[in-house]
Amino acid sequence: MLIDEVRACTVCTKVLPAGPRPVVQFSPTSRLVIIGQAPGSKVHQSGVPWQDDSGDRLRAWTGLGAEVFYDPAKVALMPMGFCYPGKGRSGDLPPRPECAPLWHARISATMTDCRLTLLVGSYAQAHYLKTANLTDAVKAFRTHGPGFFPLPHPSWRSGIWMKRNPWFETDVLPALRRAVRKALGGKKT
Ligand code: SF4
Repeated sequence: MLIDEVRACTVCTKVLPAGPRPVVQFSPTSRLVIIGQAPGSKVHQSGVPWQDDSGDRLRAWTGLGAEVFYDPAKVALMPMGFCYPGKGRSGDLPPRPECAPLWHARISATMTDCRLTLLVGSYAQAHYLKTANLTDAVKAFRTHGPGFFPLPHPSWRSGIWMKRNPWFETDVLPALRRAVRKALGGKKT
């Protein structure tokens, strides 16, 4: 199975300081796909995607409880890099560039009922929307299609970003929760 192939991936062994440990979740029936950055050290240890403060924030933003968030029949968690990339000077290193080109299209092809894709953070947005400005991309959330919804990365830094961009809470989050509910319900977004 594809998930077993992914879990056995060792392409970046030489450049991953903690070694390969792909952390992903998907199934053929996943309707909502969440494309984040890469696991942090805590998630690398646990092997559970988004089981950290960023995950708590993302669940609060989307209105998803843990039981739905961690149900691969409903939600796919497919970061830009599946393995913890290690620490850089100012936080974690970027996701490994080998990963998304190697796996995303193959995984996406198995999810035949995908209705909404959340692009969480600048790496996912650069890859899928070809945009370099996260704030502009999120502000224009209604214009991206088909089925893409850009979001900032919900790290602790997002609190500062949200203070500067109050429209995120008033305009974007209610629309996000509606889109997520719709994707997981009966109708296409
Ligand atoms: S980051 Fe992706 S490509 Fe690299 S070893 Fe992990 S799963 Fe394989």
